[in-house]
Order: sequence, then C-alpha cells, then structure tokens
Amino acid sequence: MAECLSPGKSEAQERGAKMSVVLVVHGGAWAIPDELAKASVDGVKTAAREGFSVLKRGGSALDAVEVAVRSMEDNTVFNAGHGGTLNTDGEVELDAFIMDGQTLASGAVSSVKNIANPVSLARAVMEKTSHMMLTSRGANLFAESIGTAMIPTETLVTEYERKEWKKHKDYMTGVMEDFSTRWAHDTVGAVALDSAGNVACATSTGGIRNKMVGRVGDSPIIGCGGYADNFSGAVSCTGHGESILKVTLARLILSKMEQGKSVTEALQMSLQHMGDRVQGAGGAIVVSPSGHWAATFTTERMAWAAVEHDVLWYGLEPLERLKEHWLQ
Ligand code: ASP
Repeated sequence: MAECLSPGKSEAQERGAKMSVVLVVHGGAWAIPDELAKASVDGVKTAAREGFSVLKRGGSALDAVEVAVRSMEDNTVFNAGHGGTLNTDGEVELDAFIMDGQTLASGAVSSVKNIANPVSLARAVMEKTSHMMLTSRGANLFAESIGTAMIPTETLVTEYERKEWKKHKDYMTGVMEDFSTRWAHDTVGAVALDSAGNVACATSTGGIRNKMVGRVGDSPIIGCGGYADNFSGAVSCTGHGESILKVTLARLILSKMEQGKSVTEALQMSLQHMGDRVQGAGGAIVVSPSGHWAATFTTERMAWAAVEHDVLWYGLEPLERLKEHWLQ
C-alpha cells in the first residue's frame, strides 16, 4: 500500500526513522584524457570522504554537499573554482548552484569572477538574500559585501588550461556545436542524504572552454544542473549545458523517479532521452530519499565516488564500480 505522507515531512521523517547517510560526487562527464584520469579519480574520492565525514558527524546534507564541492573547486584537476576553463576572452567565469531538499530553498551564481569557491557564494545567495540567483557584476558586488576574498584570475587558471585554450583557439573555433565527447566538460557536483532524511545537491563549473563571454550553462539553473526535494531525491548533472537545459535534465530524472522508476532506470532513461532528442551527452548523480543512489554517464568517462555504510565506491569508465573502505 502506498504510504501517505504529511505535507512538509519526508518519508524518513514521517517514519521517525534514522536514515543511513549517503554522499555521491562527480568530477564531470567528458573524454577525460589519460594524463588527468588518476588525479580525477583521487580528487572525487577525497571530496567524497570529506563530504561523508560531515554526514558521519551528524551534519546536514546541505553542509556535506558544500564541503564536497569546495574540495573539488580547490583541486586544480577539475573545471570549477581553481582550474576553471577560459572563455573566448581568456577569462574565468564561474557558475554554481546549491539546493536544500527540505525547504526547496536554493541559491545560484552565474558568470562570477575572481572567486575561489562559488558554491559557498551560491549558498550565501540562498541564505542572505531574498533572491535565488545573482549574476556577473551583481554576484561579485554581493561577494564583496559579505567579505568574500577576491583573487586574481591568474590564480584560478592552470598551465594546463592556458595551453589547451590556446590550442583550441587555433583549430576549434567554430565547432561550438561539437560538444560530443571531445569538448571540454568538467563540472563538479555532489548529492547527499543526511541522518534526518534531508537531501541536498550542489553543482559548480567553469562551463565550457571558449564559451562566449556571459554564456551561462545548465549548472546554476534550477531543475537543469541540479535539483533537490525530500519527496523525490537530489540530482547533480554534468555535460553539454545547452542540451541539459533543453531537457531540464535534473527535474526529468526526478520526475521519472516520482513515476516509480528506480534511480538507475530514471538516470539511464533521461540521459538516453537527451541523446535521442537533442543529441546531447552528459552524466548525473542521484540519491533518493530512501538512500538509493546512482552515477551514470553517456560520455567516454566520468569520475565519480559515493560513500554509504562506510564503503567508498568509485569509477571512471562506463560500468566501472570499484570499492574500498571509506577511511583508507
Ligand atoms: N554543464 C556544464 C556547462 O555546460 C559543463 C560540464 O558539465 O562540464 O557549463
């Protein structure tokens, strides 16, 4: 018999049950070159451990996803915060989103510059303003007003990115539509379920290399780059932003779960739909209110890691699922 839930309470809260906590992260779905493969896997494992520690101590899903995403923003192997990709002007413009599944409150920043941790700025938008998104100059002005440190663009840019940018400027101009698997995608994201039964998600990115100045992708857009609702689950997406926007990927995945699909089915069906309908490639991570989770992608590779019951799961290649104890 279907359970009847009271408004404002999740399934777990309704049962008064103590949930088993889960944290899942991704480091971007794209054709990760061999030279970045190990660092990407190590990076997601570290982020998963850091985020899971928050949950283990009884912390909230919201704190856990912020900590996990900050860890990847600080890691130059990922295209978020430090290591962000360059736009056509050779500038780093960052997008980020965070959402609380208990209240449906969310915060986002887009095209923000000179900030190391846009996910925390997104959280400040959620908690300290009456708005849900601040963009560009407004986001920077807000950051200054709350005392966020401004750092020079050069500090955010890696040598690897500068080199790739120059190379791609030479021969890839005009192939914006060729996002396929060779285009540089590398967003980071996290989803979590805490012991109170609350879910949350966060996503952060430098976008796509050689994007136009001011281009905003899916990552900071609610329902596209992420969504969290205690009644259906939490999702963080990665991949070709314009495709993800067209199919509102995060909400699409959750709507399939609401229709009774398992987390894995919902993810696979939604990514398949994005491929069939708009020829878009990408990936996503998801956790349900009952602690079921999945990490799936249609690009060549996606670094991901998940911790549940003190086991750390991780992978990079399609269908790869390795495990170790989370404290190792
Ligand atoms: N979705 C991001 C964007 O289009 C890129 C990525 O996921 O790597 O901005």
